[in-house]
Amino acid sequence: MKTRVIFLGPPGAGKGTYASRIMERLNIPQISTGDLLREAIRNRTEIGIKAEEYVSQGKLVPDDIVIEILKQRLAKDDCKNGFILDGFPRTIEQAKALDNITHIDLVINLVVPDEIIVKRLSSRIICKRCGAVYNLITLPPKKEGICDKCGGPLYQREDDKPEVIMQRLDVYKKQTAPLVEYYRNRGILVDIVCDKVDTPPEEVVDRIIKIMR
Ligand code: ADP
Ligand code: ZN
Repeated sequence: MKTRVIFLGPPGAGKGTYASRIMERLNIPQISTGDLLREAIRNRTEIGIKAEEYVSQGKLVPDDIVIEILKQRLAKDDCKNGFILDGFPRTIEQAKALDNITHIDLVINLVVPDEIIVKRLSSRIICKRCGAVYNLITLPPKKEGICDKCGGPLYQREDDKPEVIMQRLDVYKKQTAPLVEYYRNRGILVDIVCDKVDTPPEEVVDRIIKIMR
């Protein structure tokens, strides 16, 4: 089984949604640098204060900061038997740093057209407490404004506003998309095409788990 996995794909491709479901089914931790950064920002840590201006503008946080938080997270016990990286690496520099930290078995590349991304992100809401992701149109919570999992309040991320979405897509194309070839050349990348807004997450998750096996 391939358990050291990277999820690659533009913002809104569903990386976090799929990774959190796979974590529940296979008991492999989902590691999202976006979640780690939002937590640091909420707790006003030194890293959080540095990262905030980049995140709110849809820019990438400097490599040294993200590499450091990822390194600390991967050193924890629960990563021993594998992990799903969601949102890291995002630059060639980060990918090279990762090569020095650990070995990667598989890269899942989620291929999603821009129109679907913009639609999804502008209707996305997340839980302030646990980070669970919902969508007002395709994946609504059972009770409006309240997280199914923990009862926490749901809100729209600052960077899911339309102007910032376009900026993030642009950043993805310029800085992160080159990683597709980087990993494809190594022969460990598999494309998953998701070109419908309403494909149920479980269907995509089943496909990914088959590839991991
Ligand atoms: P999405 O994948 O939907 O864009 P994330 O939660 O992964 O959302 O990331 C949100 C923001 O956090 C990014 O726009 C960026 O500012 C910052 N961020 C997350 N991961 C990284 C990373 N690996 N390198 C640099 N910045 C990052
Ligand atoms: Zn919650």
